[in-house]
Amino acid sequence: MPGELVLIHDDARSRLRKLLALMQDQLKASTDLVGRPGLQRSFDAVVTELDLGDEPHLRACNVCGAVGMRDATLCSVCWSKLAPLSLVAVR
Ligand SMILES: [Zn+2]
Repeated sequence: MPGELVLIHDDARSRLRKLLALMQDQLKASTDLVGRPGLQRSFDAVVTELDLGDEPHLRACNVCGAVGMRDATLCSVCWSKLAPLSLVAVR
């Protein structure tokens, strides 16, 4: 129903982000100059409605392997203390 909150699992959100990125690339490459502006407006409306946000930064627990948020200090599965990740230099 319109305005109703819909929860989307993180895996599905990640797949949707990838599909939307692919669709955006296809829209940019489209040679249909008549139809493209309308499709872009519809696409933008879908992106706004989904409100997926950015891809979360994740890390695996080095004790049990469970995946959690990158900045977590404790594993949410085995409660092991997670060492802060060092910054990686980007060249
Ligand atoms: Zn763990």
